[in-house]
Amino acid sequence: MTDVNRVWRLRKRPTGMIDNDTLSFDREAVPQPGEGQFLVRVNYLSLDPTNRVWMSDMEQYMPPVALGDAMRGVVCGTVLESRSPAVAAGEIVSGLGVWADYQLGSPATFHKLASPQGVSTAEAFGLFTGAGPTAYFGLLDVGKPRAGETVVVSAAAGAVGSIVGQIARIKECRVVGLAGSDKKCRWLVEELGFDAAIDHKRPDLPLALHRACPDGVDVYFDNVGGEVLDACLQQMNLNGRIPTCGLISQYNATAAVPGPKNYASILVKRLTVQGFIVLDYVPRYPEAIGALSDWMRQGKLKFRVDLREGLENAVSALRMLFTGENTGKLMIHVR
Ligand code: NDP
Repeated sequence: MTDVNRVWRLRKRPTGMIDNDTLSFDREAVPQPGEGQFLVRVNYLSLDPTNRVWMSDMEQYMPPVALGDAMRGVVCGTVLESRSPAVAAGEIVSGLGVWADYQLGSPATFHKLASPQGVSTAEAFGLFTGAGPTAYFGLLDVGKPRAGETVVVSAAAGAVGSIVGQIARIKECRVVGLAGSDKKCRWLVEELGFDAAIDHKRPDLPLALHRACPDGVDVYFDNVGGEVLDACLQQMNLNGRIPTCGLISQYNATAAVPGPKNYASILVKRLTVQGFIVLDYVPRYPEAIGALSDWMRQGKLKFRVDLREGLENAVSALRMLFTGENTGKLMIHVR
């Protein structure tokens, strides 16, 4: 261990895409744990679209990061020193921390990472702390798919979307993924077993969607909002469900975002459009972790970690979520 802690601090609220002045990369002293705390050396930093939301003062589900504060992030690391009975030195923990090499944890914000056999630490961290439960509860509790129904998911080659599609296949649905390149679409169909995949950048997206979903769409799992949502609204079946998971197309917006053009479909098709935040499901995480691990073990679920090296590259890597350069769960290998 060195005595220098590199910490990303929020310096200004971004306008549009995060630029190189949004955060500063500072060198500070390694913090010392007080009574009830432990010192964590970070191994992996999760990069999530919501990081961009936390940097802004747009309407959100927890307070934004204050200017000057260390950037908030979900991390996984090794306990170096513990003054808490909850964990011992050497154990691997994950939780809501900050973008830094070292940080203090407590049982209120960190817990031991589940590590089923055959699942690496990076996979367990990426799958069980956020993306997996989001896909599991968002699809099954909110989307309520039934066997034989058609499920469409956007940002399908990303962390949440790739799991949503595979769970929908496990539940015997027809699954169509929307992703931003031919390469991603091929991965979804050839590797993950999606029935079809469409490049959402196609100018004729509504037509392509109509062709790929000849029986209409029963569940549209929305990760992006915007024009993709509009295209899907047109194809929804009577009593269809739309779990609103994320709106990544508007996190960088610099002006008020217009509502969906096809809003009338909600009325005419008697749709249920329901937003959800995965944090509300924390008490039920063991259920999701159990199911996801079983499916991994049975070879029914694949999980791809898109690992980028170096805490110093966190900002440039975060931008990849908005340019579509990631495939699977994006995270930084800190150490
Ligand atoms: P992903 O790994 O899916 O990465 C984001 C992807 O979004 C990119 O790879 C890109 O893929 C796509 N994308 C970016 N900009 C646009 C755009 N303008 N239009 C369409 N697609 C775009 O991220 P996550 O899986 O971590 O998150 C997916 C969504 O789920 C996000 O909206 C996030 O905020 C939300 N989320 C919500 C949670 C909740 O509790 N409700 C919890 C976790 C995540 P492509 O190449 O296909 O364009």
